[in-house]
Order: sequence, then C-alpha cells, then structure tokens
Amino acid sequence: MFDKYNRKINYMRISVTDRCNLRCEYCMPVVGVPKKSHNEILRLEEIENIALEGIKLGIDKIRLTGGEPLVRKGIMGLIGNIANAKGLKDFALTTNGLLLKKHAKELKDKGLKRVNVSIDSLNDKTYEKITKGGNLKKVLEGIEEAKKAGLAPLKLNVVLIKGTNDHEIGDFIKLTRNEEIEVRFIELMPIGEASGWSNDYHITNNVVKELFEELVPIDVENKSIPTKRYKIPNYKGTIGLINPLSECFCDGCNRIRITADGKIKPCLHSDFEINIRKLSKEGFSMAEILEKSINKKPEKHNITSEEFVPIKRGMHQVGG
Ligand code: SAM
Ligand code: SF4
Repeated sequence: MFDKYNRKINYMRISVTDRCNLRCEYCMPVVGVPKKSHNEILRLEEIENIALEGIKLGIDKIRLTGGEPLVRKGIMGLIGNIANAKGLKDFALTTNGLLLKKHAKELKDKGLKRVNVSIDSLNDKTYEKITKGGNLKKVLEGIEEAKKAGLAPLKLNVVLIKGTNDHEIGDFIKLTRNEEIEVRFIELMPIGEASGWSNDYHITNNVVKELFEELVPIDVENKSIPTKRYKIPNYKGTIGLINPLSECFCDGCNRIRITADGKIKPCLHSDFEINIRKLSKEGFSMAEILEKSINKKPEKHNITSEEFVPIKRGMHQVGG
C-alpha cells in the first residue's frame, strides 16, 4: 500500500488496551483514566481481523502495544492467531516488562519474534518515581527471561527526562558492551501527561552524541528511518536514537496506528481518526477502510512549530 506521498505503508501498530499496571509520569495521570466498557474496546477477533486484512494488503510488520499489552486478557491467543499469517515478517510487542518474566516463554511459543522493553532508569528509586510505583527488579527479571526465551533482537526503550534520568545515559550505553541488545533513547514528546510539561524537562538526543563521541553511526544516512543507530567500537550491542523533536522523519513514515477503541490514526500527532466499526456498519470492507486511512496520512506533523497543539489522546491510548 502506498499513500498519496508515495510512502510505502507496511507497518501496523495496534494498541490492544488502554489500561496499564504503571503510571509513568509523562504518560498517564496518577489517578488513572476512566475505564472504557468492554463494548468500547475492540474484541480480540476484531483486532485479529484488522491485522490479517492488513497483512493481505501488504503490512509485513506488526507491533502490539498499549497501555500495557500483557494485561489484556486473551493476548496469547491473539498472538498465536496472527503470528503465522503469510507475509508477516516482523511481529513485536512493546511492554513495560513487569509481566514479562511470567509470559516471555509463552510469547515466544505463540510466535512473537521480539519485544521492546521500556525501562527509563536502572536505579530502583528513580524507576519507582518515574513509573509511580514500578518495581525495577521485576522488569530486569523479565528482560532476562525474554533473552532466555529467544525474543530477539531485544530492544530497551529509554525516554530521557532532563534532570531525572539523563545522568544514566552512560549506564545504559554500558549495557551494550557484552550483549547484542539495542538501547534506544527516545526524545520526550508533548503527548499525554507530558503535553503540558515545560521545556525544562525536554532534552534532545544530541546530548548522547556529545557525551559519547566514540559512537560510530551505522545507518544514520537513511533519513527516513525513525531510529538512527550507532555503536561503540567493540561493543556487541547498538544504540538507537529516536529524535521526533530534533529531527523530522515523516518523509519515511511507513505506519498506521490502531487504537484500543477501534480508531485508525494515520498520524501520531494528529487528532484525525477513522472509526473502524462505524465504517464497517456502513458497509465498507476492512481493505477499503485501511486504504481510506492510508490516503489520509498527512505529509508531515508540525510538532515543533509554534502552532502545534498536542493531540487529545494520551500515549497509553495510542501505543507510542
Ligand atoms: N506500556 C508499554 C510500555 O511502556 O512499553 C507500551 C505502551 S507505551 C505508551 C509505549 C512507549 O511510549 C514506551 O516506551 C513509553 O516510554 C513511550 N512514551 C509514552 N509517552 C511518551 C511521551 N510523551 N514521549 C515519548 N515517549 C513516550
Ligand atoms: Fe503504562 Fe507504558 Fe504509559 Fe508507562 S509508558 S504508563 S507503562 S502505557
């Protein structure tokens, strides 16, 4: 599938729930969010159908996300039903890792290829503060279990918050010395709880390159990929920099997002959405709905412009 700017769309990110067992300070309000009723959330069969129809149309990479995808009941069955679809090349899940120790092996057995684990600090207290009560030990155990299960390549997501965890950049980079993992630093975006945060909390990923001049670029020439990859010579792993603020990678945007309540978001930074159930009721096939959505992808976002208005949804509803 190609959009009207001739971008090939082959990546679908599906948020399977807007619920979460953490309350990361930049993502979700401490008090949580009003619970949606079961009827408002896509059934697993609906998610499966969207994924399988997408694959038939050329989607070859799917990521399940949330909220926390591992709290969604029936997630393993869903994974098993999607994993073997012909044409699917990459099947991944983004998780906060709290339930990974328990589920890593089953995820692998069901056919998931790999996981990204979000871990914003390697210090118990800082982790607990950022996540509002999360237990770092459990996440680290989950990461070990994911490695054992062969969910590879393992990627760790680190959102840098100025004054909170930016002094840990070196500790995260050290994790790549002896292991074939990727540590990905993500610039904090003005979405969700962070949408009202002042510039004092934002830091660009240039700081990583300034601190570690020995970082060697791997594929940074490719402007259209969101993750610019580097490595330290002789280290086994890699470092990824995801720079939504300091760089615009819309030229190569290849994705659409499905929200847990059944909306297709052609662009993360726009409130424009397509209601899947409504269009289905009107008689449109899933293929037509997906094609409509792809045609609505804007050329680019305006996140860094003066006129930018943060989207109304939080990241826990969109999935990152
Ligand atoms: N609960 C899972 C997790 O935390 O990995 C999956 C959903 S979470 C919304 C997906 C990713 O979005 C996480 O890596 C999280 O750190 C990131 N994220 C959430 N809010 C963000 C923001 N305002 N800016 C940048 N990244 C954000
Ligand atoms: Fe939950 Fe992930 Fe948001 Fe943290 S970032 S509150 S783990 S959805």
